[in-house]
Amino acid sequence: MDTVIALVDCQNFYCACERLFRPDLWDRPVAVLSNNDGCVIARSTAVKQMGVPMGAPYFKVKRQLAAADVAVFSSNYALYADLSRRVMTVLRREAWAFEAYSIDEAFLAVPALGREALCDWAARTRHRVHRQTGIPVRIGLGQTKTLAKAASRIAKQQGTATFCLVDHPRPDRVLDSVAVGDVWGIGRRYGERLTSHGVRTARALRDVPVAWARRQMTVRGARTVQELRGRRCIALETAPAPRKSVIRSRSFGQPVRAQKAVREAVATHASRAAEKLRAAERVASHLQVFVQAGPSAIDLTYANAASTPLAPPTHHTPTLLQAARRCLDRLWRDGPAYRKAGVMLTGLRPETPRQAHLFDNGTSPEQAALMEAVDRVNRTMGRGTARWAAALVSEPDARDWTMRRTQRSPRYTTCWSDLPVVQA
Ligand SMILES: [Mg+2]
Repeated sequence: MDTVIALVDCQNFYCACERLFRPDLWDRPVAVLSNNDGCVIARSTAVKQMGVPMGAPYFKVKRQLAAADVAVFSSNYALYADLSRRVMTVLRREAWAFEAYSIDEAFLAVPALGREALCDWAARTRHRVHRQTGIPVRIGLGQTKTLAKAASRIAKQQGTATFCLVDHPRPDRVLDSVAVGDVWGIGRRYGERLTSHGVRTARALRDVPVAWARRQMTVRGARTVQELRGRRCIALETAPAPRKSVIRSRSFGQPVRAQKAVREAVATHASRAAEKLRAAERVASHLQVFVQAGPSAIDLTYANAASTPLAPPTHHTPTLLQAARRCLDRLWRDGPAYRKAGVMLTGLRPETPRQAHLFDNGTSPEQAALMEAVDRVNRTMGRGTARWAAALVSEPDARDWTMRRTQRSPRYTTCWSDLPVVQA
């Protein structure tokens, strides 16, 4: 049986997450800030209408937001990731094939029913997601991923929850309402070039010769044109691509000069990277540590990286911590104000089979059992319950490298101490 594609998009996702456990915010405008409270990265509808642009530096709009009684939050990724996982779990059950496209979007292949039946399916699915997770979603339907994306964009523009391009009576008119730069995969640069050639809307792009599109925008642009015509060229990515690297890094809340503090940050990144590595059932054969220092992010006075091979490849946290420590010591300089540090693991390979290192395995059975126990504790009891001493941020003077997140909401769903309390 044929399928059509549905794009399911959580509406104002981060704001919806912040509101979920706070009924007092249901009527209040909400904004969410990026790491270190730098920029506005999510806005409820009212904040959008106030004219606060996406990515606005917080210090520039702070007063305006306060004057309008906007509830402002630091980003709470533990909460967003967990609610995203719940939404995806519900959606997966509704689909014949499924691709989690981003934290708040998924592509679903669903049976190619008639237009009315598809709209019913969308209404049921929205209702189900909302009832089981509390998150409102928007659904766009089309013959291809590109058309499903366009349908979702039209729904957003029209302020409706569902838009179905399948069997639409006036496809030309609705595709004319989508600016060419808003077509999935086109982007601003190609959008400007196409506009200068008089191709201004999704409909106009659909009707250009494929060969012309290829000349202007490579084979990917030609694919987009085909997709707008309803011919599927971009497959659903139903299996996660094998990881090629794991990277953990973060800017310091304040510039840091103490070696101890940078060491703890690097150790924390290394142990988190090791966790990711094990979750992906991989071992790494290379570890790199990098640092950046200077008065501002664009005006760096010192930036360096040091790396070391891991032979045999491993995912054993203490081994990775030692390697990271050695790398940091090699590139350390006293003096600069460090702004950022991170750890990258590369040369990943499956942890099994291990024949190549039959007698000299990167991780012994005892070490593997310990790692598994630590991961299980952190998975079930909350991240950071079991930590490595090297990554322990204990003293107040060493604590200044952690992120500035002054307005973060509780981790309602992933942390025992943050569970909401209900009084009846
Ligand atoms: Mg969204």
